[in-house]
Amino acid sequence: MADKHELYTVLTATQRAKLRASIQGKARTHGECRVVPDAVHAGAGRRCIYKQTRVPGVPSERNLKVYMHKFMAMENMGRAPVGDEEGSHLCGNPACVRLEHLVLESGDVNKTRDCCRMFLGVHPLYICPHDPVCIRPVSVAAAAAAAASPVVLVSVDLTDDDDDFE
Ligand SMILES: [Zn+2]
Ligand SMILES: [Zn+2]
Repeated sequence: MADKHELYTVLTATQRAKLRASIQGKARTHGECRVVPDAVHAGAGRRCIYKQTRVPGVPSERNLKVYMHKFMAMENMGRAPVGDEEGSHLCGNPACVRLEHLVLESGDVNKTRDCCRMFLGVHPLYICPHDPVCIRPVSVAAAAAAAASPVVLVSVDLTDDDDDFE
């Protein structure tokens, strides 16, 4: 298998496009995130088991696999990781593979985002120190808002095409 840091430059533009489409095809919408259904989170204090996928167009015997979230981080940044950089979730959702929610950054910075996952949008005085800033997943924010205020449903008739005023 290619060195993980060289992978991005090893792949052709066509392979990258296919891989991106393949990952997006596997994901489903969850709040603002796009999650891979069987991605597993091992729990508090444990390492995440991120989903890997094969690179389309590469013979399987070469066993070229990539972490989906890390590949999408590379796609978003337009470059390969440098040094100890990891695929880091702005949304704090380990199963998310949405391009806009992923960046490459050092493992140390990545870990500090755990703090935002706990407090951002929960503690009113908490301010995210990161650049780019953390995204509070809408599912969590919506749950908090729903608990704070009743839901009002507004019905709009989109089929109304009367011409009384013509
Ligand atoms: Zn996300
Ligand atoms: Zn943050």
